[in-house]
Amino acid sequence: MKIAELFKKKSPISFEIFPPKGELSVSALRGTLDAFKALSPDFISVTFSAGGTGDSNNTAELAGIIKNEYGIETMAHMTCAHSRAEDIESVIARLREKNIENILALRGDIIKGREPTEFKYAKDLIDFLSGRDFCVGAACYPEGHVDCDSLEDDIRYMRQKQDAGAEFFISQLFFDNESFYRFLERAQKAGITKPIVPGIMPMLGKTQIERMIYMCGASMPSAIVKILHRHEGDAGGLRAAGIEYAAGQVRDLLRGQDSGVHIYTMNQPDTAKSILEIAAQ
Ligand code: FAD
Repeated sequence: MKIAELFKKKSPISFEIFPPKGELSVSALRGTLDAFKALSPDFISVTFSAGGTGDSNNTAELAGIIKNEYGIETMAHMTCAHSRAEDIESVIARLREKNIENILALRGDIIKGREPTEFKYAKDLIDFLSGRDFCVGAACYPEGHVDCDSLEDDIRYMRQKQDAGAEFFISQLFFDNESFYRFLERAQKAGITKPIVPGIMPMLGKTQIERMIYMCGASMPSAIVKILHRHEGDAGGLRAAGIEYAAGQVRDLLRGQDSGVHIYTMNQPDTAKSILEIAAQ
């Protein structure tokens, strides 16, 4: 099923997972996938070499297992920075083999010293994918992309992705829902008519959150800083408080807008389960 159709029927709850690096160990993942299936997500997305993990060969493989063996709708991420048309064609062929209908089209990381190709921005990939019968989504950034100084410019580029054929957007993580609602309003004013799904990542540890904030340029609201102080040296307490905070964000977002929520699960079904259970209270 094409994910764009889902938004016409409901506010989908989706999960993001990443493939194991190197040889895909299906058996090692079975337990994780069984536990995710029990949470009945509307779809699961599978990252593509995120953070330079070099796991891109396993994206189609894992997406295929989720879709064809677990019967859960799936979206494969695809990046294009430094790729040539023939590289993209071979990824497309692998996705077709696995019956994957949904792609999150991304630029990916720029590697210093490597030449750009014709795929300079995500919109070039979206353009390349158009007319090939995939449902294509794109990324967006409520506080602006880390390399872009102006949120206004970033929203203009988002509009270019929509014009090239993006049928929905999934947001970068953020910790302040108000910043997301402000962004939603600005994006809509700038002509974004497609669904914009908020992406939520729970804070599970100090190092993890500092790294994510550094990588994404997301701001850290005082509520998060206070949680970090309160649970200094108490990893279990910090994790529980981080889950509680993310659940509060999800509860509020499911009431405050109608495009569902995308949870960055970090391959931890127990965390996703706790977030959804607490959010439903
Ligand atoms: P673009 O939309 O191309 O934007 C990249 C930069 O270029 C931005 O600064 C933007 O402002 C600027 N820009 C865009 N268009 C123009 C233009 N016409 N002129 C001038 N500047 C322009 N990375 C992975 O490697 N693998 C993954 O699986 C993955 N999954 C992700 C999932 C989500 C939901 C999100 C939000 C991000 C994900 N990323 C992933 C990270 C993503 O690849 C990086 O954030 C990357 O730096 C930008 O990707 P993009 O598709 O948003 O790029």
